[in-house]
Formats: sequence, C-alpha cells, structure tokens
Amino acid sequence: MSEKDVTFQYCDEIIGQFEKVCKKPIVEKSSVYYTGVDLGTACVVVAVLDENFRPVAGAYQYADVVRDGMVVDYFGAVKIIRDMKAKLEEELGVEELLYAAAAIPPGTDTLDGGAVKNVVQGAGFELTNLLDESTAANAVLKIKNGAIVDIGGGTTGISILKDGKVVYVADEPTGGTHFSLVLAGAMHIPFNEAEVLKRDSSRHKEILPVLKPVVEKVAAIIKQHIQGYDVDEIYLVGGTCCLTGIENIIQKQTGIPTFKPKNPMFATPLGIAINCTKDIMD
Ligand code: ATP
Repeated sequence: MSEKDVTFQYCDEIIGQFEKVCKKPIVEKSSVYYTGVDLGTACVVVAVLDENFRPVAGAYQYADVVRDGMVVDYFGAVKIIRDMKAKLEEELGVEELLYAAAAIPPGTDTLDGGAVKNVVQGAGFELTNLLDESTAANAVLKIKNGAIVDIGGGTTGISILKDGKVVYVADEPTGGTHFSLVLAGAMHIPFNEAEVLKRDSSRHKEILPVLKPVVEKVAAIIKQHIQGYDVDEIYLVGGTCCLTGIENIIQKQTGIPTFKPKNPMFATPLGIAINCTKDIMD
C-alpha cells in the first residue's frame, strides 16, 4: 500500500460507506444522529451519521439555489433541505433529525454565513456548527501540510495547511459550471445535456481534450494562490474533481504532486457531518 493510499484510507472508507447508505440506509437504533448539510452551487448534499459518526443515510440533489457560493434562492434552498430532511427521517424511521452542521466557502463568512445558518434552521434543524469547507474536507482527508483544492460547481476553494492549521484561504468563481459551458459550446448541445455528459465517467476520456483548457485555467488559479507558500502536495476534493485525469493536468501545470480520493464529491459533506455536535449555536 502506497503512502497516498494510507492518506486516503479513512476518506475512501467513509465515502464508500456513504455511497452505499445513499442507496440503502442503515436502519438501526442510534442515541443521536449527526447531520451535515452542504449547500452547493450545483448540488445539495445531506449526510447523516450515527452516534459513532458512521454514515447511516444520505441524499443529494442538483439544485440552483446558490451561485458563486452565495445563497440566491433562500426559499428554494429551505424547501429542498426540508424535503430531504423529511425523506431521510422517513427512511431511518426517526421522528426528527435534530442536529446539523453546515459549511461556507473559504473567505465568505462575513458575507454569507448568516444566510446558510438561516436556511439550515429554516429547514427545521438546530445548527450546531458552521465551519469553512476546507476545514470540513480535512476532517476526512486528515492532512497536515499542503493545499486542499475544492473544485465544486461554481467556485474553486483553495486552502493551505501548515502543521494541521489553515494558514491561507481563497475562493475563486471558476468551477464545474464553466466546464459544462465549455462542453456545451464545443459539442453544440444544451447546458443541461453537457452537465449530464460531463458526469458520465465512461465519456471522460473523450471529453477531456475539450475540457483541458479550463482545467489548465483552474491550475493557473491554484498556482497563483499558492505562490509564496511552501506547498509540496495538492489534494483535490469537490464534484468537478471526479473528472478522470484532472489530477494529472493540475500536477503537470503546477509542478506539484496532486492527489484525489476515489470519490472527491462527498469529502466536504461528510467532513461537515463529522463536525456536527449536540451543542446548539446561538
Ligand atoms: P460549490 O462548492 O461551488 O458551491 P457544489 O458544492 O455544488 O458547488 P460539488 O457538489 O462539490 O459542488 O460538485 C458539483 C460539480 O461537480 C458540478 O459541476 C457537477 O457537474 C460536477 N460533477 C459531479 N459529478 C461529476 C463527475 N462524475 N464528473 C465530472 N464532474 C462531476
């Protein structure tokens, strides 16, 4: 087993478990449930853990309630999360999923922390933690040094860690949506069709040459932000990093060894759930 396999061991394990319970929840008694709510630009993910912080249920839904990391459709967001909460409660046979944690993109705390908090509370949860996305992702990656790059739907979040502490954060408005726009233009297909095509891993080899310039643009953004920091490794998370081979292009462009877990899409939502507690925020 290589060093990187060891690094991702916990991450791959918990994500694998989460993928299973999204299809078939584990209906067992638990004294408490911890929920993570990831309100993204492209996708809303809700992850439920049991008293031992093991995934027992989960759901995700593509939605357009957040743009560039900001909540733009408050009522739409509340409804989606309330409906997902109700569905998960029914699946698990529990009266109420009470405790939830949520996250916001790096550097947006003064702007949007309040909106995300209100959405989660408006959906009927008690909010117990509101953390930044990179800290959340690192709860499953567990890295001490390097850069965590979260390429989501609307934005790319960059966080640099030194001895386990976040020393720099940035969020840039380039993400998977731009990949889909490029694909739609190149293939003369509607945006929604390009989105679906992009998510089909059996087509990744064919579409990668079209998407390469956008990946290189993301790599240039990463390079610019990590300049002046001692970054020896880049760790990719976020749904866009599911794109087969994205890590090789980023590694080539930045000159820095680049790694990703088996499914980078659920690292942040699970990290959020792991940071859920029983202490309700004011
Ligand atoms: P943001 O973090 O910018 O707010 P988000 O949280 O919605 O956005 P994620 O859920 O991490 O972002 O990722 C969603 C993006 O990942 C979408 O653009 C989606 O098309 C893309 N994506 C999801 N699965 C795949 C896949 N298998 N291959 C390529 N791209 C994918």
